[in-house]
Amino acid sequence: MDNSGPLQLIRIESDHTFKFQKSTISKVLLQNDIKDRNIVAISVAGAFRKGKSFLLGFLLRYLRKTYQHRQVNVSEDWLGDFNEPLKGFVWKGGSKRETTGINMWSEVFLYDKGSEKIAIILLDTQGVFDNQTTVKENVGIFSLSTLLSSVQIYNIMHQIQEDDLQNLHLFTQYGRLASSEGEVSPLQDLVFLIRDWRFPYEYDFGFYGGDSFLKSCLEVRKEQASELQDIRKELSTCFDGMKCFLMANPGEKVSSDKHFDGRLNDIAPAFVDNLKDLVPKLLAPENLVVKRIGGTTITAAEFLTYLENYVTTFNKDDVINPKSLFQTTAEASQLNVIISAKDIYSGIMDKMSEKAMKPSLFEAEHLKAKATALQKFEDVKKIGSVEMTSTFLKQLEADIANLYKSNQKRNVDKFRAFVDNSNLIASS
Ligand code: GDP
Ligand code: MG
Repeated sequence: MDNSGPLQLIRIESDHTFKFQKSTISKVLLQNDIKDRNIVAISVAGAFRKGKSFLLGFLLRYLRKTYQHRQVNVSEDWLGDFNEPLKGFVWKGGSKRETTGINMWSEVFLYDKGSEKIAIILLDTQGVFDNQTTVKENVGIFSLSTLLSSVQIYNIMHQIQEDDLQNLHLFTQYGRLASSEGEVSPLQDLVFLIRDWRFPYEYDFGFYGGDSFLKSCLEVRKEQASELQDIRKELSTCFDGMKCFLMANPGEKVSSDKHFDGRLNDIAPAFVDNLKDLVPKLLAPENLVVKRIGGTTITAAEFLTYLENYVTTFNKDDVINPKSLFQTTAEASQLNVIISAKDIYSGIMDKMSEKAMKPSLFEAEHLKAKATALQKFEDVKKIGSVEMTSTFLKQLEADIANLYKSNQKRNVDKFRAFVDNSNLIASS
């Protein structure tokens, strides 16, 4: 039976706070075979009722066909039966507004790419840029999905307007801060996906026409507002890659037939051709973009740390601002290093704790394990200032001291029991 479905990753509550559905998401991403995998996060964001969830249904179809049992099975006819209704994220929601937030598809697609283990997730955003959503909610959802995804698909109808670029302002500010801290390309791939493209004779469908169209949109001209000139100049330095795909109109049935169930037979052939072109370029094994933050790959478990920290920041700040977002990224990156350093320490000491060791020997092992953990902290590239790093290092040392205390007590008890037992045997 197919139990898969959308899970709410982030929801905006009626009091406008951001709620991270931690337990639901942890159940999926912290499973043993998932938590340590490098994550590939594909997100689709943009105004509502513009075919985002509909597109995600096809991304899902490709993933299901291609990634099975941790292996790949690339097939030309991944689109399958042309009479099959489209399943997946709820699309065609009518004109009713949906809950604002980010949904994650419950199926995670696993792929063992040689020694690299990958987990692919799909993210759908809802309710962004509609007139009932507050600016903070819009910016929050849009920035969260952009910061967390390895590929952000910015879904736009017809044309790239000045407003669409304006929505990217926060990222250029974020990018500026990050590069002042020595980060190169702080954000990953941004794909402008233009739906119902009307001028294929000027710029052809697909990435080829899209990239020249994007270039023309990003040209700086005197008549543009100065802030928008800056965004144009800086955008390419804050994203690792920027692309644009021009997509055909899917036809009458898709846009206005209420009985349309998503079957390919009812979709304009030009749109189907676009899908055949676009989807593998995003999701084929050789095109997967693994999530990196500060140049380091991010595991599924680390992804959750970032998410949780961003949400805390959103709820603390009145206005979502690039400075505190960058600060949060840095803190979460340090926190993740602490967690993995502590795991190393605990891994070594758990083995030691199985034995009953002479306290002096146990302490020597603790010092060795601590040195290994601190070395790990040193070695991993972290984001943030020297002061921040030293604060987190102190935190790590304190955490290890606490772990040692409880392990030491257990060991001493065990050792005593062992000595008493030996004395008993010797005297009997
Ligand atoms: P979302 O709110 O952006 O997720 O939009 P949905 O995926 O729910 O789709 C909203 C409506 O737009 C549905 O009736 C779809 O059939 C229709 N639709 C999907 N893709 C396209 C497209 O590329 N162009 C047009 N005009 N309509 C589309
Ligand atoms: Mg939707």
